[in-house]
Amino acid sequence: MALDLTKYIASVPDYPEKGVIFRDISPLMADGAAYREATDKLVDYAKDKGAEMVVGPEARGFIVGCPIAYELGIGFAPARKQGKLPRETVKATYDLEYGTSALYLHKDAIKPGQKVLVTDDLLATGGTISATIKLVEELGGIVVGTAFIIELKDLHGREKISDYDIFSLMEY
Ligand code: IMP
Repeated sequence: MALDLTKYIASVPDYPEKGVIFRDISPLMADGAAYREATDKLVDYAKDKGAEMVVGPEARGFIVGCPIAYELGIGFAPARKQGKLPRETVKATYDLEYGTSALYLHKDAIKPGQKVLVTDDLLATGGTISATIKLVEELGGIVVGTAFIIELKDLHGREKISDYDIFSLMEY
């Protein structure tokens, strides 16, 4: 029987600051059956989209993306913060509430024309995933879909990536 995956998300009020409810996926990851079921659903989506490569941003994008890539027998490339990738990179900046941040991909992470699934644990304002998409496209990759465990509807990330197919396992 299918599990109710929402039961494995911890909602933490006033974290990281007052007024914010943090959605914590770690109970889901800590439960083998729930982690597997979430992964299986994301794998089905990635397979449907014909993904040939998975890219996920630091750090929870790795937790979500790596098992998808493993199951499909395709590659995974990490989009990382400054100073973490040792070879030549491409860079994409994105806005935070205060200031900006940047993500990087190794220049040889994606082959031109490769079909890429971009994934992260959670879609909020869409800044992180937009930067990840930009990196993939700069390298000539084709983003065939975006996948998340959680989508926070109120933050309208979906509008920022409306040109792309979006799949999420649950919404808040
Ligand atoms: P965005 O860039 O505003 O869409 O924020 C999404 C990024 O911030 C993802 O990489 C998430 O891991 C992280 N994030 C934002 N809010 C939460 C949350 O409530 N729980 C877990 N991660 C979050």
